[in-house]
Amino acid sequence: MTVIGMGIPTVRRGAVPSLDGRPEVPYLLDKFGRVAKDLRVSITEKCSLRCTYCMPEEGLPAIPQDQLLTSSEIVRLVGIAVHRLGVTEIRFTGGEPLMRRDLEEMIAGCTRAVPGIPLSMTTNAVGLEHRAAGLAEAGLSRVNVSLDSVDRAEFAQLTRRDRLPSVLRGIRAARAAGMSPLKVNAVLMPQTLAGAVDLLAWCLAEECELRFIEEMPLDADQEWARNNMVTAAQLLDVLGTRFDLAEVGRDDPSSPAEEWLVDGGPATVGIIASVTRSFCSDCDRTRLTADGTIRSCLFSDHEVDLRSALRLGASDEEIAQLWRGAMWNKWAGHGINADGFVPPERSMGAIGG
Ligand code: SAM
Ligand code: SF4
Repeated sequence: MTVIGMGIPTVRRGAVPSLDGRPEVPYLLDKFGRVAKDLRVSITEKCSLRCTYCMPEEGLPAIPQDQLLTSSEIVRLVGIAVHRLGVTEIRFTGGEPLMRRDLEEMIAGCTRAVPGIPLSMTTNAVGLEHRAAGLAEAGLSRVNVSLDSVDRAEFAQLTRRDRLPSVLRGIRAARAAGMSPLKVNAVLMPQTLAGAVDLLAWCLAEECELRFIEEMPLDADQEWARNNMVTAAQLLDVLGTRFDLAEVGRDDPSSPAEEWLVDGGPATVGIIASVTRSFCSDCDRTRLTADGTIRSCLFSDHEVDLRSALRLGASDEEIAQLWRGAMWNKWAGHGINADGFVPPERSMGAIGG
C-alpha cells in the first residue's frame, strides 16, 4: 500500500469481507455481539481550521473530485443504512462539513430518504451563522460544535486560525435556528487545560452541553505522545478548582461520555476518556469516509470500498451485504494501550471524527 501523505492513504480496497460464521440477520452485527446503529458520514477532507491535534499546517491532500462521493450517492447510502441495516442516527462530519456547498441539498435529500431519523452534524461552526437557518430548514436537527477555548489567542494558536468570533456567532445562530440541544466538544490539550474552567463557565452561561474528549493518536503530524496528553483525571482536578462536580455516570449506555453534575445541577459536563478508559466494548458506530469506504473502527485501516460497488451498478442489497461484512470483521478495540500500538494511516480529519 502506498501512502500519499499526511493522513489520506490509499486504502486496502477491493477485498470482499468474509461473512464466515455470521448469522443471517439484517443489522450491522460484529463478532463481539455489538450492533452498529450510529452512522458517521464524512463528506470532505477540507477544513477552514488546522487544529494541531488533527490536521497538518498545510491541510490534508485533496481527494480528487471523482473519488469524492456525490450528494446523491451519500443520500442513497444513508437510505441503505437506515432501511436495510437498521441504522437509527446519522451524523455528518469531515473535515469540515460546511466546506461543502451542497450540504443543504444533501441534508434535504436525506430528510426525504429517511424521514424521522435524526440528522446532526459535527462542525467547527466557522461560517455557520450564514447557513444555520437553511440547514435547519433542510432538516438538520442538531449540531455538535468543536470549541477548545474561549480565549481568542489560545484558540488561534490551537487551530492556527483567528476565527473564534465566527465560531461564537455560529453557535448563537444554530440556537436561533432552533437546533437543540446545543453540544460543544473540546479536545483536552496541555495548552488549553487551564482555560477549561472558562470554557465550562461560558457553556453554562450559553446553555450549551460541554463534553471534553481525551486526545487520541489520530493527529496527521503523528505527534501524539502518552506522556504529553491530558487525562480525564487531570481535567477533573482543574475543573474542581472552580466547580463542585458530582459523578452521575453515563446518561445512555452507548454514549461514551461520563456525566458530572455541575454545582448541584441541573447542568452537567461530560468527559470522554477515550484513551484512559476505553469504551470500545460498547461501540455502536459505523463510519463512511468521504471517498466512499466503510471504516468499522477509527483505528483500523481495513476499509471496504462501497464507492466502486455503487458506480459499478451494485443493487442496494449487494451494497448492504458488503457493509454487513465490513462490520462483521470489526476489531474488538483500538489497542492504544497495548505494546506495539501503531497509529492508523488516516488521521482524524481524513476519517471523520
Ligand atoms: N471539523 C469538524 C469539527 O471539528 O467538529 C468535524 C470533523 S472533526 C475531525 C470531528 C471531531 O474530532 C472534533 O470534535 C475534533 O475535536 C475531534 N478530533 C480531531 N482530532 C482528534 C484527536 N486527535 N483526538 C480526539 N479528538 C479529535
Ligand atoms: Fe478541522 Fe475539525 Fe480537524 Fe479542527 S478538528 S482541523 S476543525 S476537521
